[in-house]
Amino acid sequence: MKSQVDLGVPIPPHKALVTRVIKQVTKEQRERALQETEYNVFSFPSDLLFLDFLSDSGTTTMTDLQWSALFHGDESYGRNKGYYVLLDAIRDVFERGDSPKKSIELLLSGVDDVERLMNELYLVPYEEGFVNGGIHQLDRPNAFIVPQGRCAEFLLFSTISKILHKRDSNLEYYIPNNGHFDTTEANIVASGLHAVNLFDKNIILEEFPLESVEMSNPFKGNMDIRLLKEFIKEISLEQIPLIYLTITNNTAAGQPVSLKNIQTVSEISHENNIPLFFDACRFAENAYFIKLYESDYRSWSIKKIIQKMFSYADGFTISFKKDGLANMGGGLFFRDKGVFQTNFSENSDIGTQLKVTQILTFGNDSYGGLSGRDIMALAAGLYEGTKESYLANRLRQTRYFAKELAIREIPVILPPGGHAVYIDMNRFFEGIDMKIEDYGGLGFTIELIRHFGVRSCELGPFAFEWDQKTNEQREGILNVVRLALPRNAYETSHIDYAVAAIAELYKNREKIPKVEIARGRNLPLRHFQTGLKPK
Ligand SMILES: *Cc1c(COP(=O)(O)O)cnc(C)c1O
Repeated sequence: MKSQVDLGVPIPPHKALVTRVIKQVTKEQRERALQETEYNVFSFPSDLLFLDFLSDSGTTTMTDLQWSALFHGDESYGRNKGYYVLLDAIRDVFERGDSPKKSIELLLSGVDDVERLMNELYLVPYEEGFVNGGIHQLDRPNAFIVPQGRCAEFLLFSTISKILHKRDSNLEYYIPNNGHFDTTEANIVASGLHAVNLFDKNIILEEFPLESVEMSNPFKGNMDIRLLKEFIKEISLEQIPLIYLTITNNTAAGQPVSLKNIQTVSEISHENNIPLFFDACRFAENAYFIKLYESDYRSWSIKKIIQKMFSYADGFTISFKKDGLANMGGGLFFRDKGVFQTNFSENSDIGTQLKVTQILTFGNDSYGGLSGRDIMALAAGLYEGTKESYLANRLRQTRYFAKELAIREIPVILPPGGHAVYIDMNRFFEGIDMKIEDYGGLGFTIELIRHFGVRSCELGPFAFEWDQKTNEQREGILNVVRLALPRNAYETSHIDYAVAAIAELYKNREKIPKVEIARGRNLPLRHFQTGLKPK
């Protein structure tokens, strides 16, 4: 008899506790809704869809442990209970590796020994990590909870920009990254700094053999080390206040970054006394890629890999809406007494300056714009989203989706990243009269909703404003449609329906209409706002 592991089919990681019925909407009803929402997929009512792959952000189905933690939410204005367990969950996940303390269990199990709660949770001093505790968090704040990732970016860049421009208002400042997310770049630019991308778009589109998808991974999300070295040589060091690494690299089709790449970028940063920050959205998925495909770490636990990854960072911004952690939440954390703090605390402590902005914009530091319920669900979610069985299933499902598309000769980017599959629209429309400015990707997303009730998202010439860019800027724009997978929401049957729908669309691709922008061509962040019209 074979063992359970040798059966050749994975052990299911979860079962449903609550289900939501999908409404049996007709094509005619969707057609009317499309017309009345100007064919913009962001404006289409989600209740009228069968499947929604618009985003993986905040769309997670929470686990029973998260729902039960939510009931322990404490809506006090100052120092709610969840604040303490959230900070300790962050220490557990990012710093404690295989030895987490799980102090959240003190609350969930109803411990009423007051001395114990004081000594193990409420009054414990910590310092020199990402999350000071007790008196040290008051004296040198370094942990900032906010509603979502972009708020953390705003806090960081608006604050350091003031410091930098006070230091020397005549200098230009640059933040290099393996791939800035759109809000990260927008926050950098809005603060008067420059955002620089150091990855090669052609690597992402490079062909990868379908039969190798399970076996190996080229870590296409890596920062291009040659470009980083050249960049540091060209620009004076005082003009590079931070180096950023996005894990996984969302802008580069959600591709992972190797631990080797993290180590090298860290070495270069620290040789030059530049702090290294992570945009840590999807760090857990990235850690699982490292375990699967970087041979040195095959026998390591996910917890230990995450600890290792973050040992190279001086700080990080994060959206907790990713990685299945929670439906809402974000944060900014930096190493106490580390390079970042030293470099930015010349006149007054950088943490104290960040805290002032946090209070002005998101409320006091113990809730940061979140309800006590959100905070508890997030604290529990940090443990749920870093479990190996969950992550294994997550990446297996994304691979399954990509492989099923590839088998039907649909030009999907291989290997897939962690959170989404991306279809290359240039190859999709090969041999058909569809120019870049005909927005074939938009036609694809509209027809996929119209005929089959499946929502996807164009991330190409429309979203990145091809018509408003210089030839050089156009070089960096991929022409892709993304289908992002909500976590724990869909089973194989859902993916099979989506694959069948996309395959049918592919067969009939010459019928996909060209699309024009009918209203709001020049609006900022126009993909959320404009009206469209299929021709
Ligand atoms: C989603 C995301 C952000 C921004 O987070 P929000 O919670 O949407 O504000 C930043 N960086 C990356 C890589 C992301 O995927």
